Amino acid sequence: MEFMAGSELAHRGATPLLEKILVSGLKGVGPRSAGKLAKLGIETVQDVLFHLPVRYQDRTRVVPIADLLPRDQAVVLGRVESAQVRMGRRRSLLVHLEDATGSLLLRFFHFNSAQQRNLAPGSLLRCYGEARSGPTGLEMIHPEYRRVSDGEEPALEPSLTPVYPSTEGVSQHAWRNLTDQALALLDRHPDCLRELFTDELLRSLRFSPLAAALTYLHRPPPDAPLAQLAEGTHPAQRRLIFEELLAHQVSLRQLRLRHRRLPAPVLAPVGALSQKLLQSLPFQLTGAQRRVAAEIERELAAPRPMLRLVQGDVGSGKTIVAALAVMQAVEAGYQVALMAPTELLAEQHLSNFRGWLRPLGLQVAWLTGRQKGRSRGETLAAIARGACQLVVGTHALFQAGVEFASLGLVIVDEQHRFGVHQRLAMREKGRAKGRIPHQLIMTATPIPRTLAMTAYADLDLSVIDELPPGRSPVTTVVVPDTRRDEVIARVLQACRSGRQVYWVCTLIEESETLQCQAAENAARVLEQRLADCAVGLVHGRMTVEQRHEVMAGFKHGALDVLVATTVVEVGVDVPNASLMVIENPERLGLAQLHQLRGRVGRGATQSHCVLMYHAPLAEGSRQRLAVIRSSSNGFAIAQKDLELRGPGEVLGTRQTGELRFRVADVVRDAPLLAEVRQTADLLLSEHPRRAELMVRRWLGARIDYARV
Ligand code: ADP
Ligand code: MG
Repeated sequence: MEFMAGSELAHRGATPLLEKILVSGLKGVGPRSAGKLAKLGIETVQDVLFHLPVRYQDRTRVVPIADLLPRDQAVVLGRVESAQVRMGRRRSLLVHLEDATGSLLLRFFHFNSAQQRNLAPGSLLRCYGEARSGPTGLEMIHPEYRRVSDGEEPALEPSLTPVYPSTEGVSQHAWRNLTDQALALLDRHPDCLRELFTDELLRSLRFSPLAAALTYLHRPPPDAPLAQLAEGTHPAQRRLIFEELLAHQVSLRQLRLRHRRLPAPVLAPVGALSQKLLQSLPFQLTGAQRRVAAEIERELAAPRPMLRLVQGDVGSGKTIVAALAVMQAVEAGYQVALMAPTELLAEQHLSNFRGWLRPLGLQVAWLTGRQKGRSRGETLAAIARGACQLVVGTHALFQAGVEFASLGLVIVDEQHRFGVHQRLAMREKGRAKGRIPHQLIMTATPIPRTLAMTAYADLDLSVIDELPPGRSPVTTVVVPDTRRDEVIARVLQACRSGRQVYWVCTLIEESETLQCQAAENAARVLEQRLADCAVGLVHGRMTVEQRHEVMAGFKHGALDVLVATTVVEVGVDVPNASLMVIENPERLGLAQLHQLRGRVGRGATQSHCVLMYHAPLAEGSRQRLAVIRSSSNGFAIAQKDLELRGPGEVLGTRQTGELRFRVADVVRDAPLLAEVRQTADLLLSEHPRRAELMVRRWLGARIDYARV
């Protein structure tokens, strides 16, 4: 690690850095509260300063009652005009408070006789609470109050009152006490907190110094713009948000830079195999496919490992682009691993790739977690000997015990289900051989650009932004399931005119068994109602062989209707299918609906999708269905999904928490990202030590994965 000799960052003077002072050094923090704080990741005084309020209360001034609006939280001062206990469903104490401008009802449900005496007519009270409209006008329920004697003017707060994210056992009072002490230290010794932006950056980004921003946010002055603070757009907040996004970006860019320094096999393009493959196809590549294929070809030929994410809407033809990369690797004498997140999708790839590679005399092996015993042993041996050029499978491909003779390229399909950790595991797989295989990652769902810039800053991005010609957008309708008969009539009509139909049953209460039952029931009903149609059924509880048989029947037209659970989401390609009915689409996320719908509209005929919901629809579901109905652009849908459900859902990394920010919000702060990115590159090249410290400050323990 580089230390900057005599730099402005070298710590001067006697005051220790706040990042080095443990919270137990603060007054009032014993071993027990230190333990509670540690659970929140708060170990040092610096951590205390980075624990920011979630909102503020204004106790800096008294508001005339007449100025109160419903939902205002405010301090009022008035005299009790009357107070009665009302019996009724719940015993309550009703206190009428008046000031010179108006009156307000205070309602208490819990009170003892001492409190009742305090609230007697004639008492002067100062209250803090939230105004709301009640049956007889404005009221406050259980406000905080204190009795004031005539002539007394108890001090108001000098700054807005911070409300901290609360946790068990640490009260607001305790938080204020901790932050008071931390702020006092900061005030006395401004040097004790590292400013990681250079003066030049502060100037060009027009940010105030860190200490000023933190002080402001912990104790905003009475005139601070509350609405702006609530939105998270105040300059002091932006300052911290920017730094957090920057730290995140820097850690991923570092990862990328380190990766790019490792050696990779040079896969020189010969082109003979690719030519043969292209000639065997019944279509021409689109311009976008050609462009992305060329980007990949160039990178595979370099001695640095490629780490590229290919995004493309469903049906944009990512598979053939991957196949061209396979050809290049194989021709250079290397093996390729192709990994998919589900067995069904892996199977589909297996059959596609076997179809393409076998005529060229190449061997494709198949490996999943399900394979056991001898057949597994034989497959593993063939992989280790280099007897097969391509291995297709699920994540089992990267379990211990799988050794490749010469792995040159790893392809991951539907990447958004794999996080940074899996990407690293793959890298480790090849590292044993001294060279790092190239990685090509394909997403099933487009990811909004801003999110991709944040989540995948360690990757290079390619976008296939064009669909093959001759596709007409799918017409989507949303109908309640009370119109099931009409929908079934429509299915019949489609079958009679020679088209095929998907009927999708969605997950009920996270139970696969129930989902399979629902599909079985639906299939039975459809069989009865559609006497002259052949109805097939696939679900996750069938064996692979059974599923294959049904899928093959549907693909070859022996079946008219395929009833399926959401397993058909990925990996089936039947161009003659032009109608899809999705039962209870309200249970699915946008990305999944878009994926499903992408199974139709693959042929020349106009395709339709019927979203048959069960009323009543929750607001969120209603919005999602409206988005799907009105848009067929995967990128636009992904952007909506991001806004409606947040980045964790869109990326599928909710569990791993890779994108959990302390102050930043990927959607709200998207406009900052371009500048964050530039600044990250600048910091890394010119101020590596600051970059390092910033990552440590914001990502702390989580940066371990960045050091693999
Ligand atoms: P996805 O990007 O969703 O993985 P696929 O690679 O499965 O899409 O391709 C979808 C369908 O489009 C396949 O049937 C494929 O053969 C076909 N296809 C791919 N590229 C083209 C093209 N340039 N012209 C016509 N059809 C294409
Ligand atoms: Mg695909």
